[in-house]
Amino acid sequence: MDQIQLLWAYQQADVEVSRMENSIKRSPNRQKLVKYRDYLVSQQNVMKRIEGEVSAMADRLEVLKDAVSMTEDQYRALKQKMENEPAENAETVQQYMNEAKRFLNNLTAYEQEIKRIRKDAADRERLQHDVKVRAAKAKAEFDKLKVAYDAEFKEKSVELEELKKKAAELAKPIEPAYMEKYENIKRHSFPPLAKLNNDQCTGCNMSLPSAVTRKIKAGEMIECETCGRLLIII
Ligand SMILES: [Zn+2]
Repeated sequence: MDQIQLLWAYQQADVEVSRMENSIKRSPNRQKLVKYRDYLVSQQNVMKRIEGEVSAMADRLEVLKDAVSMTEDQYRALKQKMENEPAENAETVQQYMNEAKRFLNNLTAYEQEIKRIRKDAADRERLQHDVKVRAAKAKAEFDKLKVAYDAEFKEKSVELEELKKKAAELAKPIEPAYMEKYENIKRHSFPPLAKLNNDQCTGCNMSLPSAVTRKIKAGEMIECETCGRLLIII
């Protein structure tokens, strides 16, 4: 058997290896797993975002509670002052009233904001719960699928190893120059060898000059002018 024919036999095995690799990569179970994993990651991000928002709300509530108690103190102090130093003229009365009004307005604004934050926090708690339930369901599906996929992967990996071994055996008698050529063509065209049929490359269907056939028969390494595959006559 000449080198090109040895290479052809090796290519058959190499194609099998590549088929098995693709079958592992494109396994529907694997693709579903990737989808579930992406979904779980996205839900984790949603949870993190909500947690950040809830914690910011809690901080804001603390600030507001302090502001409320400070304003209440100020209001009480004002009342005390009004009792101790009753207003003696209209101007002072107006001053006391303005101050009291300002405190009350502030209190109202703080309380409205507190109410709003509490409602937002409750909404987020519900959302958190929903996200948790959905994520737990997806995780259960993921785990179930993972068991099936692992079994499938293990089985296919064994087959893949056997195919690789077979290809390695067939590669042994091939001279390095031929193998190098094969690997180089493989980078742009797979499979790298194509049969020449009636002066036509079966890799790309282009016609080649009939002199090519003679050269190949004489044992020359000839590549298709169009697709670059190494040509073989069988
Ligand atoms: Zn071609």
